[in-house]
Amino acid sequence: MKVPLSSVDIGDAERQAVLQAIDKGELSSAVPAVHAFEAAMARATQRTHAIAANSGTSAIELVLTAMGVGPGDDVIVPALTFAAPALAVARLGARPVFADVDASWTICVKSAAKLTSSRTKAIIAVDLLGHPCDYDALNSLGLPIIEDAAEAFGARYKSAPVGAFGVAAIFSFHANKVISAGEGGCIVCDDEKLTKRMRQLNAFGMDPDRRYWHVDLGCNWRMNGLVAAVALAQLERAEALMAGRAAAAARYDQAFAGSDLERRPVADWAQESMWLYTLASEHRDAILAQCYADGIDARAIWPALPHNPVFADAPASQIPNAARLAAQAFWLPTFSTISPEQCDAVIDAVRGAMKKAAR
Ligand SMILES: *Cc1c(COP(=O)(O)O)cnc(C)c1O
Repeated sequence: MKVPLSSVDIGDAERQAVLQAIDKGELSSAVPAVHAFEAAMARATQRTHAIAANSGTSAIELVLTAMGVGPGDDVIVPALTFAAPALAVARLGARPVFADVDASWTICVKSAAKLTSSRTKAIIAVDLLGHPCDYDALNSLGLPIIEDAAEAFGARYKSAPVGAFGVAAIFSFHANKVISAGEGGCIVCDDEKLTKRMRQLNAFGMDPDRRYWHVDLGCNWRMNGLVAAVALAQLERAEALMAGRAAAAARYDQAFAGSDLERRPVADWAQESMWLYTLASEHRDAILAQCYADGIDARAIWPALPHNPVFADAPASQIPNAARLAAQAFWLPTFSTISPEQCDAVIDAVRGAMKKAAR
């Protein structure tokens, strides 16, 4: 049975929203759907402001730019994450410095503390694989925090939703994320001044009171009306989208309970939002080979970031946890429309490989 790693869940609500945007000619970034989407994101994250963007990566770069991060600065990034936050730091001429992850698989506060110096401008806390960082502990570092919640829409730290932490938080609406609009991003923030600065940067650096008068080296990474129409319809269905992924995870959990497979842990401060179901095993290669043979797109997690050629010169602390997970962790197909039969095909492949490996 063919089972993709990920699949979008786009239905009638999204189709109607897009058709409506087209019929009304509301395609640019200055349209009601974009404003409504921003308001909904601010509400969902208990923030005062939200700025829609064309990707999660550009959202991070906007925050960093508005904070004045540039050459000579360090930004601490976890060694285990999708590369976007580290790329954004490096593209601004600043230096990503890589902290290890801890038992929660999110950034290790002790490791980050060791990397802190007078150059350190900020720390990007990644809510990895739908799981929040320990924000109370991170706050004790006294550094500005940028929360990268791209993989964690709907998760909670203690009682607050992800996105509520740090100077600003970002989300992604890439096709494989929990809320999907193909490509898209958003910044949420409480700081009025920073928000104004980010909006101005994202509007070509134009003086808001004087058209075509450019006071900043701005850009245009804005979300357009068609994307916002899809994203807003998805946001309104967030509970159902999250429940579909959680149901798949529950089926996997039940099947693998008591096995040697290490499930991504959930810390006592966390309420996870399932993104991609993640396991770790020393038999990863055998499991992935069996899945591949059965038409199942299970995948190895990212290599540790400092091991990528582009970051070869970046300083890193010792990263034993990130390195081990990079070598052992893998994703099973997880999406809201996955069927029980598809989950069972995945389970059979993984179990089969484990049995063979044990012989
Ligand atoms: C997906 C992702 C991003 C980037 O989002 P895009 O919208 O694809 O640019 C940033 N950070 C993390 C942790 C991600 O997983």
